[in-house]
Amino acid sequence: MLQTSAISDVRTRITAIRPAGADVSILSMSCPEIAAVARPGNFVNIKVNAADQPLLRRPFCIHNVQGDTIDVMVKNVGRGTSLLCEASCGESLMVLGPLGNSFGTGTGDFDTALLVSGGIGTAPMLFLEKTLAAAGISFHHLVGGRSHTDLLTTGLSNVTTSTDDGSEGFHGNVVQLLEKHLAEREVGRVKVFACGPNAMLRALARFCRDRAIACELSLESVMGCGVGICYGCMVELTNADGEKESILLCREGPVIDGSRFTA
Ligand SMILES: Cc1cc2nc3c(=O)[nH]c(=O)nc-3n(C[C@H](O)[C@H](O)[C@H](O)COP(=O)(O)OP(=O)(O)OC[C@H]3O[C@@H](n4cnc5c(N)ncnc54)[C@H](O)[C@@H]3O)c2cc1C
Repeated sequence: MLQTSAISDVRTRITAIRPAGADVSILSMSCPEIAAVARPGNFVNIKVNAADQPLLRRPFCIHNVQGDTIDVMVKNVGRGTSLLCEASCGESLMVLGPLGNSFGTGTGDFDTALLVSGGIGTAPMLFLEKTLAAAGISFHHLVGGRSHTDLLTTGLSNVTTSTDDGSEGFHGNVVQLLEKHLAEREVGRVKVFACGPNAMLRALARFCRDRAIACELSLESVMGCGVGICYGCMVELTNADGEKESILLCREGPVIDGSRFTA
């Protein structure tokens, strides 16, 4: 996991907005300062409109970087995200980033990256895929959802899907799909990179720990400032001695070693 150094607060406008699935939109914004230094796993904290309310910014993973433009993939779950999903091109936003640490892609201690995601947790995976591909690292996506409408695979390569209801791909959850994937292939040294709901990440962390598979997880929490001032994003993890410890997810995450995420 790598820490980000240069953070910018950019006033920008939405240059494109397109639907990506049920209640999900991808927004593009010109943010040259952020695009230049962003790493996969980083996030941005967005003031979603020019009005006083909502006051707090909302955090989103960087979904893609193309030249000076960054994309975020937003699922409409409440007030701030509905304002973003229903926004129009040209609307003004403030974007703070890149924030947080990033996935550890350059360690050289694995041959194949398995990118495991569930629901809106697929948001950071396109940027991660592009970074791995540029480095010549072999990768495969395992994407899960409750039903086929929850699968967000647009733009991804090498994808296998699972759905809880069996409406598309493997019938089961994405951790069961990972087990099947590993049983059926000779994959060499594997590292898992994951993002999704906490229940999925806990099951995945346990699976990887039991098999000594390297695993990094991108966590979510309710978050305020995004830079370690408001203490709103404290999460409890386990250290190497098995003791509980709290971290500020915005500063020491959102990417953590899976071994720290115990039940
Ligand atoms: C580091 C990080 C990266 C994220 N990346 C993405 C992303 O790429 N795409 C995306 O769609 N979402 C992402 N989220 C979640 C997103 O920030 C929240 O869904 C959003 O802040 C909710 O704002 P709202 O005003 O729409 O919801 P509100 O009206 O404030 O609340 C609606 C519901 O969402 C829940 N909620 C509020 N904040 C969060 C949160 N941070 N995480 C989970 N649930 C929340 C509330 O408890 C409530 O149930 C990320 C969160 C973090 C911390």
